[in-house]
Amino acid sequence: MIKRILVTGGAGFLGSYLCERLLDDGHDVICLDNFFTSQKTNVTHLLNRPNFELIRHDVTLPIFLEVDQIYNMACPAAPGHYQYNPIKTIKTSVMGAINMLGVAKRCNARILQASTSEVYGDPEVHPQVESYRGSVNPIGPRACYDEGKRVAETLFMDYHRSNGVDIRIVRIFNTYGPRMHPYDGRVVSNFIRQALAGEDITIFGDGEQTRSFCYRDDLIDAHLAMMEVEDFVGPVNIGNPVEFTIRELAELVIEISGSKSKLVKRPLPEDDPTRRRPDISLAKEKLGWEPKIALADGLQSTIDWFKSINMSDYRAPTPNYS
Ligand code: NAD
Ligand code: UDP
Repeated sequence: MIKRILVTGGAGFLGSYLCERLLDDGHDVICLDNFFTSQKTNVTHLLNRPNFELIRHDVTLPIFLEVDQIYNMACPAAPGHYQYNPIKTIKTSVMGAINMLGVAKRCNARILQASTSEVYGDPEVHPQVESYRGSVNPIGPRACYDEGKRVAETLFMDYHRSNGVDIRIVRIFNTYGPRMHPYDGRVVSNFIRQALAGEDITIFGDGEQTRSFCYRDDLIDAHLAMMEVEDFVGPVNIGNPVEFTIRELAELVIEISGSKSKLVKRPLPEDDPTRRRPDISLAKEKLGWEPKIALADGLQSTIDWFKSINMSDYRAPTPNYS
């Protein structure tokens, strides 16, 4: 059945691809974004589709819309982006959640929250299971994002328990792919940009810290499955459970891109998690989902996309101190 679906942060890296998938499934899609970490060019190819609508709006402000489902993706996600204006980041997570839960409650819509592996902080439990409560520094530079997302999960659960709102929570682990902001400072975009330009590849710390990288298409498959599943609200980990050190990632990017770049060491940012890998048993059991795309294949597609874009079309986030 065709649904009216709101995607907040719909012009972003993940949101824009989600909009595309929903349109392909025949739904009416409202993409809402303030373009803080994205730009209209991510969705211009969708503008002439009759079932697509674009609204420039900030989720920290209330909005009245009539919808059947909401994917709440709006939030700067890269450390450089979310630390740029940390107060605004918390407002986006917390006030954005309150405003969107309000829409969901009024419309009786199902609402999915894009949460994060950052709720586990620098984890002592490895791999991370959903029952692990995390190890987050509440006063560090990452707290604006981590704690904002934790409060958002709390709000989702309380609206669910107190007001019967039909929620879904996914905890997204590091995801990469075409349409990542090339200057977002995340490790995959940095390494690819540096490798293609023949610049030094910047390894923060000793490069032995780990991450597990999920390709965009796999991640969105899981979001669509989570939105449709009955009698399961989550939270559920969504990510690729194959773990790499950051040094291994750098070597793979160099190999695939055929780059002559050299690795250089830079200081490790404060509170940088030492290891991260999702336990995805719950996603397998409840959604019948697991990722299909290996890192080497996903990197190849991402590198091809980076080669196809004009870097000068992209800029740093718009200053926003509200
Ligand atoms: P992104 O920065 O490309 O997308 C976020 C979008 O939200 C952007 O289009 C941005 O302009 C918009 N936005 C930010 N603040 C807003 C506001 N106040 N009002 C309206 N729009 C606003 O990042 P992404 O990687 O696509 O992340 C999407 C979601 O997934 C985020 O909520 C993020 O926290 C979550 N997530 C992503 C990852 C990942 O690895 N990509 C990991 C964990 C969680
Ligand atoms: N990193 C790095 N070089 C870079 C960018 C990031 O070594 O140019 C490291 C960073 O210190 C972290 C990992 O790569 O250990 C992933 O960083 P990212 O910013 O992509 O996301 P995070 O998972 O830390 O939120």
